[in-house]
Amino acid sequence: MLTLERFSFGVGDRFAHQAKAQLAAFQMLAKDGVEVAPVWNKSNREHTFIGSEPQSVFDAAQAAVKALGWDKGWHVDADHIRLETVDKFLPCSDFFTIDVADSIGKPPEERYVERFLAKHPELIGTVTIAGISEPFHTTTDSVAAITRKYLNATWEAGLIYKHIKKSKGAKKFIAEVSMDETDAPQTPPELLIILALLSDAGVYPQTIAPKFTGRFNKGVDYVGDLAQFEREFNDDLAVIAHAVKAYGLPRNLKLSVHSGSDKFSLYPIIRRALARTGAGVHLKTAGTTWLEELIGLAEAGGDGLALAKEIYAYALAHVDELCAPYASVIDIDRAKLPDAATVNGWTGPQLASALRHIPTHPEFNAHVRQLLHVSFKLAAKAGARYLDLLKANEAIVAKQVTENIYERHMKPLFIW
Ligand SMILES: [Zn+2]
Repeated sequence: MLTLERFSFGVGDRFAHQAKAQLAAFQMLAKDGVEVAPVWNKSNREHTFIGSEPQSVFDAAQAAVKALGWDKGWHVDADHIRLETVDKFLPCSDFFTIDVADSIGKPPEERYVERFLAKHPELIGTVTIAGISEPFHTTTDSVAAITRKYLNATWEAGLIYKHIKKSKGAKKFIAEVSMDETDAPQTPPELLIILALLSDAGVYPQTIAPKFTGRFNKGVDYVGDLAQFEREFNDDLAVIAHAVKAYGLPRNLKLSVHSGSDKFSLYPIIRRALARTGAGVHLKTAGTTWLEELIGLAEAGGDGLALAKEIYAYALAHVDELCAPYASVIDIDRAKLPDAATVNGWTGPQLASALRHIPTHPEFNAHVRQLLHVSFKLAAKAGARYLDLLKANEAIVAKQVTENIYERHMKPLFIW
């Protein structure tokens, strides 16, 4: 079986120029004695925005792996694919994030709910699971309600899973099931039922991405109740360990944390949980590297800084349009966005400090950061001008990319 490593970290490289700088962070961590597998992810939506093809992600990753002599595992993730988008990812991906969030809540025929309840009496009553804070108390009605909510989504996962299996071959790919892009979080008792449903649907996932409680905004820290997150995360780990045995799921099944970049207040919680339980984790990031490119260009000064300022001015003038698709995953206070003239007067290091995610830095501005996070389309629009600047300033950009992943993400997560 193609087995996902215990620790894996998803990186996004929107413009396919930073794979080497990203991989350098994994290499530094390996030298510290912690092996984490890089997973290059790009969704169909991102490819559409940028105008790129899935094969380009594999090519850039493979070139970086060769250039740096990386001899450990690495993967290419067809991120958030669905039945209608998966095909063009099949030849160049070995990791598939099967997104079934849209099928949550679509009611199934009642006889299938009854069949599931009859097959799984163990889910009804007092459900005791090793390592959980307190046993789940369920009733036939409560399990039926959860089954009604998720059955179609898990069947959809089964369809996509079988489609991938037919093309790639059994056990020659890694499957993740994602349910994070939806309104309501999935509680630990729901996760247990979802895993039983997935097993019944013939899905053999190595990672599962629930929606956790709290806000996972793009490019900034977690907003929510940390004690509640810790309790739920620990309960989820216990549920997974239990479901692996009870429902014959892959032994390495683990949680996947989407929008995982910049969630600095969660990393110590996750690190403690992994150390305590021996569990693995997949942490998915995507847009954070694009922001480091912009920080690098700002630091570089000259034409790089000029383009960064232009992008900000344009983004500010089109704030509604740029933010609309991301309304549920950003919190921007417009009063805290400086006007274009102010930013035009900034030095490179000033703009870099406003963007760089060091929350204690007096010049850091989470609102500017979030706005530019969702403005990557503007760099795509700048086309060759943007890409040529990335090439001309490769070293200073690479330094930002590597440092961000290694210092601010990997060290707090994986160095114990
Ligand atoms: Zn996601």
